[in-house]
Amino acid sequence: MAKRTRIIEGTWNCTSCDTRDILARFRKCPTCNNPREESGQESEFDFGAVDARSGRLEREGTRDEKALSAADAGADWFCDYCQASNRGDSAVCHHCRAERSSTSRALSEEELRTAAPPPAARKRSFPRWLLYTGVGVLVLFGGCVGLAIWGSITHDFPGRVVSTEWTHSVRRQSFQRVKLEGWRDELRAVAARMPVNGQGEVAGVENIRDCVSRQRGTRQVAVGTREVCSNKTRSVACGTEEKCTTKKLGNGYAQETCHDVTKYCDETYRDCHDETQYRTEPVFAQKCAYDTYQWKQVDERTLSGREDAPRWPELQTGPLDRLEREAKYRVQVEYTDGTTKSHVLEPETLAEFLSWKKGTPLSLKVSNSGKVQQVTPGGGKSPVGREETGR
Ligand SMILES: [Zn+2]
Ligand SMILES: [Zn+2]
Repeated sequence: MAKRTRIIEGTWNCTSCDTRDILARFRKCPTCNNPREESGQESEFDFGAVDARSGRLEREGTRDEKALSAADAGADWFCDYCQASNRGDSAVCHHCRAERSSTSRALSEEELRTAAPPPAARKRSFPRWLLYTGVGVLVLFGGCVGLAIWGSITHDFPGRVVSTEWTHSVRRQSFQRVKLEGWRDELRAVAARMPVNGQGEVAGVENIRDCVSRQRGTRQVAVGTREVCSNKTRSVACGTEEKCTTKKLGNGYAQETCHDVTKYCDETYRDCHDETQYRTEPVFAQKCAYDTYQWKQVDERTLSGREDAPRWPELQTGPLDRLEREAKYRVQVEYTDGTTKSHVLEPETLAEFLSWKKGTPLSLKVSNSGKVQQVTPGGGKSPVGREETGR
């Protein structure tokens, strides 16, 4: 890579007489003869405009021997006695002849801003909003856990059985011949067998007949390929471009270094590939009628009661019938934890249901969240009120 360097001469402004844009080679103001000092921004040099894309200074480079020698002399120092600026390689003040002391300050300049500054060190600090959100989530989570623990703590309360309720249903089903339709390849002839005492039946597939062609579904058939194209973009090298950096030398001069670097451009190209094309075709198959047997409900009886002994409804069955029984039991319970509340038990078996009798005193384990966790007979005294506050 070709490297080019230039020395650019800066300019300064006299704060004594307000003369502006004095070349750096002048250590004294050409108008009022005051020496350039550190104070009043006199030694803050201006190097002119910078090209935004390349970082190149727009000002011409200097070829003047004296200027190049001054640029090479190192950073300026300021006289302790008269504050005048002096060449870095001189030991004596050009203005008052005082010697340079160990306490003499050297000129330090800020880095010159160029078009391509080094990427600013990004703050990697933890985002504050994330911190707050995290703390919030933790507090909320802790609160939920606390609430869950509190809610699961149980207390014992006295109660009693208020009422019992039962419902018994019997459904009579009959094994009946029905006509159905099915796909020929899914049908296998099987002889039907009638139930004995409602058991051992076989539905069967009999008299497969009347087969006709019907559409069963669709399928995708490849019919060839088609070229599909789209425009895409890629980055390609497209010549070189100049990139420059500038370093201030601390004495009114700046050294600019420029390189030619590979330039990348976006290029649009056409991306093509073959795609298989499909056509949707109907699929046909043979659909047939056949005979089989199904259980059909022909009758239903329901009996229900409160407090009394549960009974089953009577239903007569024929030789091809069967009976299906269903039982539902409810036991309503009241308990008091300050106010009177009700709770419903649903026993699954008749034996369990029969163990609950109206008026039986109970003890209930109830969690803080209001969930009844256990009901045991015995203990406790009867509740006073009959206020219902839900299950
Ligand atoms: Zn002046
Ligand atoms: Zn001096």
